[in-house]
Amino acid sequence: MSLRTIDSLGSLSGRKVIVRCDLNVPLKNGVITDDGRIRASLATINALVAAEARIIVISHLGRPDGAVEEKYTLGPVAERLGELLGKDVRFASDTVGDSATTTTAALRDGDVALLENLRFNPGETAKSDQQRQAFAEQLASLADAFVSDGFGVVHRKQASVFELAKLLPSAAGTLIADELAVLDRLTESPSKPYTVVLGGSKVSDKLGVIAHLLPRVDSLLIGGGMLFTFLAAQGLKVGASLLEEDQLDVVRGYLDEAKRLGVEIVLPTDIVVASKFGADAEHVVRPADSIEDTPFGSSGLGLDIGPDSAARFAEVIRKSSTVFWNGPMGVFELAPFAAGTRTVAAALTEIDGLSVVGGGDSAAAVRALGFHDHQFGHISTGGGASLEFLEGKSLPGLEILGWHA
Ligand code: AMP
Repeated sequence: MSLRTIDSLGSLSGRKVIVRCDLNVPLKNGVITDDGRIRASLATINALVAAEARIIVISHLGRPDGAVEEKYTLGPVAERLGELLGKDVRFASDTVGDSATTTTAALRDGDVALLENLRFNPGETAKSDQQRQAFAEQLASLADAFVSDGFGVVHRKQASVFELAKLLPSAAGTLIADELAVLDRLTESPSKPYTVVLGGSKVSDKLGVIAHLLPRVDSLLIGGGMLFTFLAAQGLKVGASLLEEDQLDVVRGYLDEAKRLGVEIVLPTDIVVASKFGADAEHVVRPADSIEDTPFGSSGLGLDIGPDSAARFAEVIRKSSTVFWNGPMGVFELAPFAAGTRTVAAALTEIDGLSVVGGGDSAAAVRALGFHDHQFGHISTGGGASLEFLEGKSLPGLEILGWHA
């Protein structure tokens, strides 16, 4: 690993530095509900302020799909960023138009500006290389150097992540460097026993990482919506729970492979089954082999792991020296189905070793459940990026900064 760091850019005093952050925070009615990603970006921005650079922060928010959508404006983020930095943040109402040009031209040494949502411009995520290149050239014309610090997007070949890094002297910020140092520990020499906990809703997103991790881990705990594909792969009925039928054979392959390698795949033995998807649903706890044996029959939905399973998961976690966790154990957003996620999070805070929570959404989940960042060894800001890293995939936004898997 030979990631170019900010030092490699030389003196930044008086130079315009464009910084790609991941300020994609959750919002409800225009109000930021979790500012973790903004806080995670402060170290690099503060370092650039101290270096007397003229700082142009860029980010995406949500998926506006190449057109202006007011609900995805970075306006509220500019305000919060200013509060956290303790200084004025000038907000440009476009990314590469008149407002961006005038705002960035007026910057003095140590000043900070934030440009509007990158994804309001179709060039940011365009499939066409030329279109991305053209947008990156417009961004590059605003600055003298580029610092990439949006770990959550380094697995994406997007204009502000990949092409921009080729157009200016470029380096990684401290957030990316810190994230890589921890993830390297998980892949190179994890202290054993090493447990990986996977949850969330999309099995297909996480299968790649399972294939790569099986030979490396001691235990793999499966919760969340994805557990039902594992139960169904063993011939169990799962009612109307989430199920990815096209993944059943792949999952069967992993169960066999785990047996062969002596890796324990721990599946829940009890499930919280609900009458419908909603906080006011009726719900009962049932053994994993009797999910349809409730008054709701085949329309019952498994929305959380049951208390016995949560206790068993917690026991495996507490005995581990290294734990990586991605994805909630149940629909934690609804109070009756949050217990499994809460129990797993609590166990992670108790281990004597390295605990890593991967993913902005998992991080937001643990904060929403009342936990604090400092209770975990590391909270990664990138869910998809950290999974792809653990899968051993090459990440375009890192390779362009000199890093190689
Ligand atoms: P992901 O983005 O794949 O990490 O998925 C996160 C989402 O998974 C959260 O919004 C949870 O509400 C959802 N989730 C977790 N468990 C379940 C479940 N049993 N059924 C449906 N959704 C679930």
